[in-house]
Amino acid sequence: MDKDDFYLIGEKGIRKLNSGKAEDLIEEDIPKFTKKQISLRSHGLAVTDKEGNLMKLLKKQYAQHFYPLSIVDYAKVSYNYARFGNEIPILSIDSHDTITCDFSCQDCLSGAGRNIPLKSDNYNFDLPLNFYLNILREISEYSSKRGFDHVRFEQSGEGNPDLYPHRAELIKNAKKKFGMESVYVTTGSKMNEDITNALIENGAFLRVSFPGIDPRSYELYSHQSKYQFEDSLKKLEKIVNQREKEKSNLLIGVRAALRPEHESFYFHFAQQIKDLGVDVLQIVKILVPEGQNLDSSPLSKPSKNQLEKVNELSDNEFCINLPNVLDSLYYGRVIQDRSNFPERCYSCVVQPVLAGRDLYVCTKSEVMYSHKYQLGRFNGNKEEINQFLSKENIIKTTQGAPKTCEACCSMFDNVLMHEIYQLTKKIDKNLEFYELVK
Ligand code: SF4
Ligand code: SF4
Repeated sequence: MDKDDFYLIGEKGIRKLNSGKAEDLIEEDIPKFTKKQISLRSHGLAVTDKEGNLMKLLKKQYAQHFYPLSIVDYAKVSYNYARFGNEIPILSIDSHDTITCDFSCQDCLSGAGRNIPLKSDNYNFDLPLNFYLNILREISEYSSKRGFDHVRFEQSGEGNPDLYPHRAELIKNAKKKFGMESVYVTTGSKMNEDITNALIENGAFLRVSFPGIDPRSYELYSHQSKYQFEDSLKKLEKIVNQREKEKSNLLIGVRAALRPEHESFYFHFAQQIKDLGVDVLQIVKILVPEGQNLDSSPLSKPSKNQLEKVNELSDNEFCINLPNVLDSLYYGRVIQDRSNFPERCYSCVVQPVLAGRDLYVCTKSEVMYSHKYQLGRFNGNKEEINQFLSKENIIKTTQGAPKTCEACCSMFDNVLMHEIYQLTKKIDKNLEFYELVK
């Protein structure tokens, strides 16, 4: 197989893409990939007809975006909805369950949990373990009835998720009882052995955030001095070693932001992370701060040079995710091309947001804790989620979204599902979906 060829991974097993066609491989050429390797080498989505003719190719890298699900899960949901009118299941739930933090990061969207006034009608972060597990049961049963059994369970706090007192039990039970694999997003500063063990045994993905990528910027951007850059590296090393020892499949990633102070450190940092045995490094733009525009902070030439060098560290076992365009330190979510944007918001059903006991349409920061975008509050009643996600309630709660949304926090997923919907309506053929792997 040529190094520029792609493998196609789908229900029919592994095939290869050759001149616009999905072709079978001979037995000896079929590679064996683990789920983790597929995710690290994923380059997007291919859609074919029954005969294997390519109908759509979407090339983009998203190793961390869908894992442990894949882009194929999202595409299929849209296809089944467009072709057979199937109801849409929840594929992923993003839970914000902790509202205290030991850091005080400069551009924290949740204000380190302080966006939630402790004494307000909206306070709903009282989550005893059994109550929380009941919410997960509601979610998983909702999806199971709609043909999907492995809802992705992302826990990213609203503060530091390590501080939720029942984290380890939650991770274990989510997997054991409901088949929900955890994606855990943290700085790791308060991550104890119980949480680490629970993740190594039951988790899918641990993503550790670095507010800065050298000792000085880590302290500067986290606004605290108790847990430092070196502490974070040491903890990561320990977790990676434990994972190897216990032969766990946990995917381990690191996320950091583009910052002016990082100009000379990107490559050194990436090399350090790779040497530790981490699987994925993602370096992202931060959301454009209010009152500024995208042009106000161009990416410097030395930063661009460093980042291009960082890309060279990418290989089959270590994946680097950089912004597609290396132009600015910021990104925006404004919907530029309305003609290519769906008329319905898929995201609010496919991946709603749980904040405390409340289910919200999305994480668009300015609407996150506004009652009007709340689909419902879990009270422990059986099947209450059916009411939250009923057609009438969604129409009422989303208030005409996406038309009424100037920006979208789930832009890529909404556009992806829209494109598959349109393709399905346009082509009167059965379609097959493959993950594109290099
Ligand atoms: S660690 Fe996360 S929640 Fe805490 S201050 Fe930083 S960005 Fe905010
Ligand atoms: S911003 Fe609007 S269109 Fe985007 S996910 Fe939220 S409600 Fe849907």
